[in-house]
Amino acid sequence: MALPYRVLLYYCFAEVQDAALLQRQQLEKCLELDLRGRIIVAPEGLNGTVSGTPEACQAYMDWVHADPRFAGTDFKIEDVAEQAFARINVRLKPEIVHAGLPHIKPYERTGQHLTPAEWKAMMQDPDVVLLDVRSDYEHNLGHFKGARRLDIENFRELPEHLHEIEDLKSKKVLTYCTGGIKCEKASAFLLEQGFENVYQLLGGIIRYGLEEGGENFDGKCYVFDNRVAVEVNQVNPTVVAQCYVCGTQTERMVNCANSVCNRHVTICPDCGVKLEGACSEACQQHPAKRPYNERGVYTTDLNGYKPGLGYEGLFKNPDSARA
Ligand SMILES: [Zn+2]
Ligand SMILES: [Zn+2]
Repeated sequence: MALPYRVLLYYCFAEVQDAALLQRQQLEKCLELDLRGRIIVAPEGLNGTVSGTPEACQAYMDWVHADPRFAGTDFKIEDVAEQAFARINVRLKPEIVHAGLPHIKPYERTGQHLTPAEWKAMMQDPDVVLLDVRSDYEHNLGHFKGARRLDIENFRELPEHLHEIEDLKSKKVLTYCTGGIKCEKASAFLLEQGFENVYQLLGGIIRYGLEEGGENFDGKCYVFDNRVAVEVNQVNPTVVAQCYVCGTQTERMVNCANSVCNRHVTICPDCGVKLEGACSEACQQHPAKRPYNERGVYTTDLNGYKPGLGYEGLFKNPDSARA
């Protein structure tokens, strides 16, 4: 039996002259269709996740696609058992992905897109450099073999860390991220900064895993939902992460139990118990330390919905939620 609701995930970079008007139109359309979720509207485009009935979702997608600015929006669709969000929230922001680079316009110029198949072929070229534009903790958990990274905890730190890759300016640089959105911005920024040959992985690590089996991606891919990490590589998988306390191999990524710290660390089950889920003894003693829940993940519950988790039988097939 088909599940009665759907969740849509999407983004589209496009010039939006009157973002405040679009914000109001988006809100009105979602209220009319009883779509719920979170949408970001910015002068550079649209980024959202909403849920509703299949009919409402289809009407919304048709409406978005009918706008020439968003005709190319790629919607990822999941089937779910109930409305995934409690309410609709449409926010106006300077950027649809926070990079601190509102003047960078990926819809005008960005790195050349590579399909997963093209990426796989191009990776073999000894002259290319793979560049991970994600955060350090994501890289530590898993990355393409031999990839460079930046010393950043958050994507918005990228501009001030660009000097770390000055030596790549004349190289063929292939950027990648989780789902593709960060690379749109990062590769456009690299071009602006004088990098000559910039390419980007379309659909990110997730799509590469689904379409190309994830070959030569070492470790797991960090994801921003309750699954924390997903398998990518079905061809030659390895483990690259270590417990940061004792150094044993582990892919167990937790948030520090101190809510003020909340740092992402890989920690083995034993060390996790010893430190009660904290990332240090100082955090263990901190008044804001939450009770250790063994999983070490403390995300807020969105009306029972955890994107992609397959939680409480909400999803027909949790793996279909990966993209
Ligand atoms: Zn350990
Ligand atoms: Zn901590």
